[in-house]
Order: sequence, then C-alpha cells, then structure tokens
Amino acid sequence: MSHQVKKLTERISLLYGVPDECCIYLLEGSEGALLVDTGFGITDIYREAETVTDLPFWVVNTHGHGDHSGGDMYCDTVYMSAEAEADVLDAINLNKTKLSAETIAEMEKNLAGSAFRPSFITEGFTFDLGDVQVETIEIPGHTAGDLAFLDRQDRVLFSGDCCVKSMDILLVVPQALTLSAYLASMKKLQERRGEFDWLCTGHDQTLMPASFVDDVVSCCEKILSGEIPGEDFELPAVFGDTKARRAAYRDFSIAYRQNRLV
Ligand SMILES: [Zn+2]
Repeated sequence: MSHQVKKLTERISLLYGVPDECCIYLLEGSEGALLVDTGFGITDIYREAETVTDLPFWVVNTHGHGDHSGGDMYCDTVYMSAEAEADVLDAINLNKTKLSAETIAEMEKNLAGSAFRPSFITEGFTFDLGDVQVETIEIPGHTAGDLAFLDRQDRVLFSGDCCVKSMDILLVVPQALTLSAYLASMKKLQERRGEFDWLCTGHDQTLMPASFVDDVVSCCEKILSGEIPGEDFELPAVFGDTKARRAAYRDFSIAYRQNRLV
C-alpha cells in the first residue's frame, strides 16, 4: 500500500488514502521542501515523499498523535516541539501493537538502520525553502505540543488537529489541555489572520477558508459563556474517563470535558 497524491496548489501536495490517517502535506519551495506529518507509519513515507519531489526536504510533526507521527521512524530527523516527543514515542509503539505480524515484519525490514531522532523547535523557528519561508507557531490545546506552520508566501497555515471540520475537534484525548487554553491558542491564530487565507488541516483533504478559525473562537467563547450548552455523550473506554460533551457550531463540532473548561 502506498499513498495517493493530489496537488492542492502549485506548491502543496496532499498524500492520502490510508483509512483514518491524517492528511500528509508536502510543501515545495524553490530550494527545499517540507513534509508536514508522517501518518501511521504503515508505509515508508520518507521514500514516498522522495517520489513526489526532487528537492531535499525537512520533516515536521504538528503534534505527536500516532496518526500524524507514526512514520517518523522512517526519517532521520523530525522537527517537533519538545512536548510532543513522549507522544511520538508512545505512538510509534502503540501503532505497532495494532498492526498485523506481516506489516510489522515489513516495517522492521524498512526500519533496519533507522536513525530517527527528534529535533526540537519553538515559536518562530523558520524553515527556508528558498522562495518560501515557513514559520512555526505554538498552539497548545489539542495536545500540549501542538505546532502550526505558516507559509506566508502562499498565505496557508498548516494547522494539524486544532481546526478540523470532517471530525470532532478533540479536546477529550488524554494529552488535551483545557478549553480555555485551547481558546487562547485559537485567538493567537486569529490575531494573525491577516497573514493567511487558507488552512491545510489535519484531516480535511481540501483547503479550508481561514475564517474557520473565527468560527472556532466564537464557538469556544459561547461554550464558556454558557450560550452553547453542548450535549453529553459517551466516549469509548479507551479514553479512560468516558464522560464528555459535544457542541456543534456552524459546520463543525468540538468534543470537550465539562470539568476541563478552565
Ligand atoms: Zn491529534
């Protein structure tokens, strides 16, 4: 199995096709490229990216969840926040437990000689792709180590799972911060709305309008003020505490915990 590739813009390719996996993006500048997230690790994503671009490329993680970072093991150096490292290492091991013996054997073969190591980046770290500069923005919330990546030339923000329309925005995962902390990060993005018109999100497979950030901010504010009450729902047992709430607003939904608002 390998990923399908779709051109979203002149510079941005989407690698997709593995069920439940994140969107994997390859952003190409004139001198270098950036691979945003690595998927489950079922395939050697580094080799696949090499078939899409002839440019040297960096690899980044928006955060450490296994559907975004499982393929890190095929890469020598992966740039991520320090807070994401433990999640990434957990994810690689957890993904292995879910796979068939045959797939694991294939992975182990691919992995022989892997020199994976995380390289930690913080707010403002910039990747120079030649005619494109990509800036790192810290947006903790969905996890403590969430990063967004801003391509100022194309006015696109790679937002990971912090803004997603095709599934719940998840603040119920064990690594999530409070709704208020998440809202602070979304307001930070809102303050920079003048710098981007589009989002490449963690799971939507299409460019999303940047106004989505405004809707997310409004939704969180309305939950905190009580204007949107939300509805109880039960999470699967794997989440530990199964009690959660869901609020729908405009054309998206967010799952959160009533005891983790502030
Ligand atoms: Zn996630």
